[in-house]
Amino acid sequence: MEGASSQRFIGRGSHKGKGLAVFTSGGDSQGMNAAVRSVVRMGIYLGCKVYFIREGYQGMVDGGDNIEEANWSSVSSIIHKGGTIIGSARCMEFIKREGRLKAAFNLVTRGITNLVVIGGDGSLTGANLFREEWSSLLDELLANNKITKDQREKYKHLHIAGMVGSIDNDFCGTDMTIGTDSALHRIIEAIDAIVSTAYSHQRTFIMEVMGRHCGYLALVAALASEADQVFIPEDPVPNNWVEKLCKRLAQERKSGQRLNIIIVAEGAIDREGKPITAELVKKVVVDNLQQDTRITVLGHVQRGGSPSAFDRILGCRMGAEAVMALMEASPDTEPCVVSLDGNQAVRLPLMECVRRTKAVAQAMADKNWDLAVQLRGRSFARNLETYKMLTRLKPPKEAFDASGKPAEGLTLAVMHVGAPACGMNAAVRSFVRNCIYRGDTVLGIHDGVEGFISGNIVNMDWSDVTGWVAQGGAFLGTKRTLPGDKKGEIAARIKQFNIQGLLIIGGFEAYQAGLEIYEARAQFPEFCIPLVVIPATISNNVPGTDFSLGSDTALNEITEICDRIRQSAQGTKRRVFVIETMGGYCGYLSTLAGLAGGADAAYIYEEKFSIKDLQQDVYHMASKMTGGIQRGLILRNEKANDNYNTEFIYRLYSEEGKGLFTARMNVLGHMQQGGSPTPFDRNMGTKMAAKCLHWLVETIQKGPANAPDSACLLGIVKRQYKFSPLEDLKAQTNFAQRIPKQQWWIKLRPLLRILAKHESTYEEEGLYMTVEQGEIDSENVI
Ligand code: ADP
Ligand code: ADP
Repeated sequence: MEGASSQRFIGRGSHKGKGLAVFTSGGDSQGMNAAVRSVVRMGIYLGCKVYFIREGYQGMVDGGDNIEEANWSSVSSIIHKGGTIIGSARCMEFIKREGRLKAAFNLVTRGITNLVVIGGDGSLTGANLFREEWSSLLDELLANNKITKDQREKYKHLHIAGMVGSIDNDFCGTDMTIGTDSALHRIIEAIDAIVSTAYSHQRTFIMEVMGRHCGYLALVAALASEADQVFIPEDPVPNNWVEKLCKRLAQERKSGQRLNIIIVAEGAIDREGKPITAELVKKVVVDNLQQDTRITVLGHVQRGGSPSAFDRILGCRMGAEAVMALMEASPDTEPCVVSLDGNQAVRLPLMECVRRTKAVAQAMADKNWDLAVQLRGRSFARNLETYKMLTRLKPPKEAFDASGKPAEGLTLAVMHVGAPACGMNAAVRSFVRNCIYRGDTVLGIHDGVEGFISGNIVNMDWSDVTGWVAQGGAFLGTKRTLPGDKKGEIAARIKQFNIQGLLIIGGFEAYQAGLEIYEARAQFPEFCIPLVVIPATISNNVPGTDFSLGSDTALNEITEICDRIRQSAQGTKRRVFVIETMGGYCGYLSTLAGLAGGADAAYIYEEKFSIKDLQQDVYHMASKMTGGIQRGLILRNEKANDNYNTEFIYRLYSEEGKGLFTARMNVLGHMQQGGSPTPFDRNMGTKMAAKCLHWLVETIQKGPANAPDSACLLGIVKRQYKFSPLEDLKAQTNFAQRIPKQQWWIKLRPLLRILAKHESTYEEEGLYMTVEQGEIDSENVI
């Protein structure tokens, strides 16, 4: 179900005096710090008295120094750190009522009646129980003269909001838990490293990844690394797996593949429920094939390292939403868990989500695998399906005739238009393999429109695209050239090669090229073929989609560079960095990297700013510096304003900061494109290309492609993959600035300001934030 959205006014200081505490519990994960920071700052912004509770429930039970009032700067410089700065623990005492009684006493005596819990389903269950018992716990404390009648009355309601921090992505109700994306980054980094060494030898690598009962990490890592086999708990391998695995590995070696990768989830089992361990798989491979086989157990590396941009932003968004949920709660509001539904932060009933999470475990215990996969949710099932399709070893026989030629397949072509972006290669690989699997002929058009015109078009084979997923850039070659007055030549090539459907992967130019071809259909009947665009650009400025391929990689790249730049100034006294990002007129990278990097401001074209705003920001920076902050980070999009350019802003800060801080300027160039695609970009490319093929085939079957809906762009819109006719997108496009007229992420800008403001030197009235209402995925409810 799609949720409704509305505007909400958030007044500075509007919840004065409310006591709010945040704690992390259970296993730690990357991004928890971003969430803690966001809770603290949002709470302070609204006027709450905010506390940290250290060491999870243990700190709540023990009280004392474990419960400490937090201020603005206690959460400075933590957003880039892995783990949780306030500590996490498991606590046996809290499971018993005596423990919870002590905890209640510690909260009441500090006036805390709002709790944000960041943890897994165990921690959330504990919080729910605590809330249910709250009244009776207070009665007991009153009866024992531990608290006064006044306190009993004043603090009679406890409100709870949860956020799921776990690398496993094992919680039903949220598409992503905080930490999963970072864990995937760690796994993929490790696999990429192994691939480079293993290539020198002929080897089989077995990697064990975390996920006690959940195969998400293993599955997505397998997709992102072109693994040959994955073992996960939700979809156990068939009984003859040994035979099948050996056949596959032997066949691949014979066809020249030097390296095989097998991924085993920690909790992998067979259909009888017996564990499949990395050791067992190794034994199978060594005994049957005598291949050189090595095991890598990643272990805690997966929880470590700096959080990815996505996890930081997720933490920021969820933390703020959790605080708002508490502030808006009435005595009978059910405890909620803040989750991610597609691209929206939503609130869901906590216990319903916990129940469903437990139902997955039950389904697995009952060996009801289909149900387990279904309960995991749509994106899990989608990932599994794509993985299965892509790892089929050989195209099905019936797709070929006696001479080995595709029997009655289609002829489809793929090309890039625009600048290279990470994930383009993954998309081409998936398209090529999906086509071949169906029995189609697939043509790679090199160097975009220019290659199309000159006939640089080649037949692509299954093995041509091996190893492409992990590679940045665009192996097919890409140029910005548009068809323009060369449409006749293109039409001739379409005819010459008998192209029946076309996939264009690229940025704004790809969308424009698609439009040009579509609009010339009346003139060139050859253009009456289905055409589909996959948006791929670091700028994320293509209409019809929330995300473009390559923008996640660029965002991570910028975020890492900002971390390094800040770190470079360690030991230097107060310094402000002014950093220019790419994006054309689109402020996506600046805004999102600003949130992920904990920037003080992000100047963009879409939100006009005057000299007055700049002046206020400079004063604001000065007041932060006087307040003890050592470093400032200002992001500016390359085309934010012609006159207030990066140099101007740098000089402004340099001049006004004299005596208080120094300034430095950095223009981040093409390195923002990134070298190695992130897991998200690899998988987005893989999944989108599979969908595009499906759409092309369906559209071809419908007959001549004349209608607007036969020339589309595939986007991620809120929570769905959506094909939008290029014709319809015209009305949504600002062609002069090459950006969409509406951009979803603009709604995150108030959050960036709230999280960056310290004690302001000027009065602020408050801000508006967009609220989304969520529901549990109806398709998943049994
Ligand atoms: P996770 O939150 O990651 O699932 P655990 O299941 O270990 O991790 O739970 C963390 C802590 O939450 C436990 O150590 C305990 O203090 C508390 N907790 C878990 N389940 C309950 C419960 N049913 N009742 C009370 N407290 C609980
Ligand atoms: P699917 O896209 O098939 O639903 P995924 O498991 O890839 O499955 O992602 C689940 C959701 O989380 C998606 O809605 C996606 O938009 C979001 N998501 C996950 N990782 C990222 C990321 N790094 N950047 C942006 N969105 C992400």
